[in-house]
Amino acid sequence: MEPDCIFCRIVAGEIPATKVYEDDLCLAFRDLHPVAPTHVLLIPKGHVSSQAHALETHEALLGHLVFIAAKVAGEEGLTNGFRTVINTGDEGGQTVHHLHLHVLGGRQMHWPPG
Ligand code: IMP
Repeated sequence: MEPDCIFCRIVAGEIPATKVYEDDLCLAFRDLHPVAPTHVLLIPKGHVSSQAHALETHEALLGHLVFIAAKVAGEEGLTNGFRTVINTGDEGGQTVHHLHLHVLGGRQMHWPPG
């Protein structure tokens, strides 16, 4: 755990969050500032700063996160589709430096993203 990381503090129960899924490896909770009717953040419980910081030892974890993102989308009732986004680094738009997948749905998505 990184003591200054807000997502580590959510995992530790120090900051409240509306959890929608949890297992030994990851936690999903609702985004505080949703940009779609469904906006869930899925994070590894262990601190990984970003996708670019993932190590070879994280490979199975990354696969697990992608798999669970679809499971969460299904549980959220996103039968017409959903979007999974990972922002990485400054130009990628990452603001919280603990790897997270945005699971977005409930409205039509557009391309290209902003
Ligand atoms: P990023 O821009 O991809 O790093 O996304 C960070 C996301 O975390 C943003 O969508 C924020 O709204 C969200 N966020 C920041 N703090 C919290 C929190 O304490 N609870 C839930 N979501 C948060």
